[in-house]
Amino acid sequence: MQKTPKGLRLHIAIFGRRNVGKSSILNAITRQEVAIVSEIAGTTTDPVEKPMELLPVGPVLFIDTAGLDDVGALGRLRITKTYKVFERADIILLVTEANKWTEYEEEILEEARRRKIPILVIINKIDLSKPGKDFKERLNREKVPAIETSALNCDWETTVKLKNELIKLLPKDFLNPIPLVADLINEGDLVILVIPIDKEAPRGRLILPQQQTIREILDKKASCLVVNERNLSDAIHNLKQKPRIVITDSQVFEEVFVQVPDDILVTSFSILFARAKGDLEELVKGAQALDNLKPADKILIAEACTHHPIGEDIGRIKIPRWINQRIGGEIDFDVFSGHNFPEDIKRYKLIIHCGACMLNRKEMLARILRCREKGVAITNYGVVIAYLHNAMDRVVQPFNLFQRSGSSIVTTTPRC
Ligand code: SF4
Repeated sequence: MQKTPKGLRLHIAIFGRRNVGKSSILNAITRQEVAIVSEIAGTTTDPVEKPMELLPVGPVLFIDTAGLDDVGALGRLRITKTYKVFERADIILLVTEANKWTEYEEEILEEARRRKIPILVIINKIDLSKPGKDFKERLNREKVPAIETSALNCDWETTVKLKNELIKLLPKDFLNPIPLVADLINEGDLVILVIPIDKEAPRGRLILPQQQTIREILDKKASCLVVNERNLSDAIHNLKQKPRIVITDSQVFEEVFVQVPDDILVTSFSILFARAKGDLEELVKGAQALDNLKPADKILIAEACTHHPIGEDIGRIKIPRWINQRIGGEIDFDVFSGHNFPEDIKRYKLIIHCGACMLNRKEMLARILRCREKGVAITNYGVVIAYLHNAMDRVVQPFNLFQRSGSSIVTTTPRC
């Protein structure tokens, strides 16, 4: 059975000092043995990820973190990894014990507030010690929701109570996610998807962004016709119904633009993901940094998954080649993948991100925010390719993102 991709799951991070029972709480919520539970302090080293179906919430990813009160060199590494979890957490569960509110809890609460992440305090082990008046007053002053429990003696009632509190914290983005394409089409519309089948295409299947787009089109009760770039023109001419929009792989923009009449909207899978996972307007602005590049400048290529690059890989070969050709010199490219997004980004003139289909929106927005704070331009693959092909106006037209004013482009509020 195919699992829900990580990028579509609600990310719930569990924080707590060592041995307050984080793993037991995770087991109590899910009613499964899903994490290491040990009497030895610090058994959970790296954040442990557990994808689950949590009814009635749906697909979630629990991230069971190491204690931030860890010591020693290994401890510091754990702390760094644990801190990175804030970047992708949609919800934080802070597990503590009765009458213990230390700098650690303060720090987690402060960081969650700073990043506007909903947080629930879970006072565990109340079979050993009940929260006193001072402790309760402290939590009231903090205005933070809290729940008392004993995960080791967990019954159904406790599980339901924990889940109900968790449901109250569900963020807007999770309840009403930004669509890929659903708001651009109507029931009964026809959408053409252009998918090149080349050496880089995985054998026997479509990739996640293509699958997700098809699913949304079907959910909207619209139809889609999937073609490759070579028979696009024939496909359009054979249709009785004009397609509402053509969505293409960015790598074949040139072939697609010459085949699609001007009165049919065109965009790319990457542009759809730039909006759904991040901030399309920011990523479009970021591409303008291409105009100021000089040979030997540094560009970071950031990919959200660790796929094995083959042939003319888009991030490692094609985009670097097109940029070098444009500036007439050699840019110094670095590639980072997975959750490895470097701290020191000020040395880059531009960051070019993949479509981020494997990240949740939270993590992509955290990366964009970090770039904004450091004054580093960020864009994504599809946006860069459109820019390099002088096609930006056309591919963002479906989103009402730009309006023409003389020869310059003026940004307006996105329709979504
Ligand atoms: S490189 Fe990025 S867009 Fe491509 S599959 Fe991986 S996460 Fe998705």
